[in-house]
Amino acid sequence: MEDFDFVVLGGGSGGVRAARMAASFGAKVALIESGRLGGTCVNVGCVPKKLMVYGASFAERFHEARGFGWSFDTTPRFDWASLVDAREKEIRRLNGIYEKLLVDAGVTVIEGFGAFEESRTLRVTRADGSTSRVRGEHVLIATGGRSRMPPIPGAELGVDSDGFFALRTLPRRVVIAGGGYIGVELASVFRALGSEVHVVHRNPELLNAFDHDVRRFFAEQLELHGVTLHLGRTIERLDRDGTSVVATLDDGTKLAADLQLAAVGRVPNTAKLGLAAVGIDTSPDGAVQVDDTFQTSQPNVYALGDCIGRVQLTPVALAEGMTLARRLFGGQPDASVDYDLVPTAVFATPEVATVGLTEEAAWRRGERVKVFRSTFRPMKHTLSGQPYRMMMKLVVCETSDRVLGVHVVGPDAGEIVQGFAVALRVGATKAQLDATIGIHPTAAEELVTMRTPVPSMHV
Ligand code: FAD
Repeated sequence: MEDFDFVVLGGGSGGVRAARMAASFGAKVALIESGRLGGTCVNVGCVPKKLMVYGASFAERFHEARGFGWSFDTTPRFDWASLVDAREKEIRRLNGIYEKLLVDAGVTVIEGFGAFEESRTLRVTRADGSTSRVRGEHVLIATGGRSRMPPIPGAELGVDSDGFFALRTLPRRVVIAGGGYIGVELASVFRALGSEVHVVHRNPELLNAFDHDVRRFFAEQLELHGVTLHLGRTIERLDRDGTSVVATLDDGTKLAADLQLAAVGRVPNTAKLGLAAVGIDTSPDGAVQVDDTFQTSQPNVYALGDCIGRVQLTPVALAEGMTLARRLFGGQPDASVDYDLVPTAVFATPEVATVGLTEEAAWRRGERVKVFRSTFRPMKHTLSGQPYRMMMKLVVCETSDRVLGVHVVGPDAGEIVQGFAVALRVGATKAQLDATIGIHPTAAEELVTMRTPVPSMHV
């Protein structure tokens, strides 16, 4: 058995960052990974998804180009397999970069599946069945999450987001269960590429946690892009019918498709780690229980990232990994993560991005708020002939004038909101936004030129 200062279980966003930082502070570090380095984000999450979004977005660009004087001698043709091959090549490149970063930092990378034998000793089982043991003075659980499959008859006839990335052909008809961010992003990719797409969502509105104006406006625009929504509905069963799989909804509607895809949430990936046997507490859904310092119920054993079920985003896992390494090995015992003002984006069509409070959350927190909202046709669409519109919204505290929330639906929303996240972090007021000179002509200038409040939901 080999001893280390720090053993990290899971080579995804959080684990790799914690391992690298710890090693850079001089710790002797081992990282155990059963799959490909980089974890969900690099292999079956943010990165391949965004590449698919880019790939799909050309369809609309070709269409819009005609309004700007372009014509094409032949109809542009798209080949799904070529995009998938290019994407996988890029991911393999990133896997290599992750490995090099770890090795260069002095981290020992151990391939295999790790499980707890004792609270700080892990048994690693390799693909060939051989095993070894490692012990850490400190141990980190960073095993991420996995899709939750709906518990319905025939669920095995569908796929999850990992199955999306494994597709070798573009399905002609797609039914997606779940109108959260992954569901609507994948729906947009398929729709842009010409598939018939249905989204079945159990709540009356998509994107549950987002601002109510965002939810309403986004759904309208998604439908305008040709996605059929079945809101307030659930899929009760899946049945094979020849080459199709048929979803039966709770109102009896039947939706036949070439692909049934479930995106109904993710659960912590902790079931096979042997946590209970070594006294590491988890919640009923498997999330490792940690305190503010990422300490589990066992001393010197920590957990972070998706497996603790807090904020399931790569930049948050990175911040948590960095913070833990600083606390344990960087001489910064007070380092902590500030979960306020985490910006986030939905890379659907239209794109959505947000930072800070929704109007509802602000009222719930007892703030009196002013709301500024603008919907408009982006300049590009004056010639593109497309009917799509954009929405921007500011939630502002009536007493302090501080901007509490920024919400954008439309092209480049993520790029726009990232900058405003900095403004909110330093406490920007509406008056300061008003005093900021816009960049003309952009869509983003709207956020510094909205002058007249609109009625708030509580007025
Ligand atoms: P992971 O990245 O999941 O890494 C965990 C690693 O642990 C994996 O590599 C796994 O193989 C390994 N592992 C698990 N168990 C063991 C074991 N017993 N032994 C050895 N290794 C093990 N976030 C964003 O911020 N932006 C996005 O646009 C975005 N898009 C997403 C799209 C999809 C389709 C999905 C599924 C997720 C997306 N996310 C996005 C979320 C993001 O990927 C996660 O929040 C992030 O990867 C969490 O990092 P992590 O380190 O906690 O876990």
